[in-house]
Amino acid sequence: MSAIDIIKRRLKEDRIPETPEEIGQKKKRPREVAFMDVNLCFPCGKCPEFCPVQCIEYLAAGSVPGRGVQPVQDRFQECIGCYICVEVCALLTDYDAVRMYESNLVEDVLGVKITDAVPPEPIPAQPYEEYFSEGGLYRHVGKGSRIREKMTAEERAIFARERVRG
Ligand code: SF4
Ligand code: SF4
Repeated sequence: MSAIDIIKRRLKEDRIPETPEEIGQKKKRPREVAFMDVNLCFPCGKCPEFCPVQCIEYLAAGSVPGRGVQPVQDRFQECIGCYICVEVCALLTDYDAVRMYESNLVEDVLGVKITDAVPPEPIPAQPYEEYFSEGGLYRHVGKGSRIREKMTAEERAIFARERVRG
C-alpha cells in the first residue's frame, strides 16, 4: 500500500466517504476549499500530482515577488474539499502549507459564488496570501492533518519512505 492509498483510506474513515478514486470533476458544492500558504509552499510538486480534480497549478511568473520557481495554488472554484492536498503536504513534505477554509467565508472575502459546478473556463489561481496564509486575515478550519495521529507504525514507515526531502 502506498502513502496516497493510506491517506484516502484514512480520510474516508474520518469524514470524506466520497473521496474519488479516479481523476474527476466537482459535482457538488464543497463545504470547505483548500488554499496553499504561498509563503510556506516550497514548492515540491507533490500535491498537484495527487489532487483528484487536478485543480492545483504553479502560479504565473512574478505572482509572488522574490520567488524564482513560483509556489502552487489551487483554482478553488474547482476544489472538491477532499483534504488530500492538506495530508500530502503535511505528511509527505516538510512544509505543511495547506489549509481548508469555509466556502461561505471564501465567498464573502472574494465576492464570488462557489457552486456545484466548475466554471466554464478555468479561473487562474492567485496567491491570496493577504487572506489565506499564516499571517493572513482569515482563520482556516482545523489545524492541518486530520489523520496524523491515527496512523499505525507500519503506515508511518511507508510515509517515511515516500517523504519528499527538501
Ligand atoms: S505539497 Fe506542499 S510544498 Fe509541495 S507543492 Fe504542495 S503545497 Fe507546496
Ligand atoms: S482539497 Fe486539495 S486535493 Fe482536494 S480537490 Fe481541493 S485542491 Fe484538490
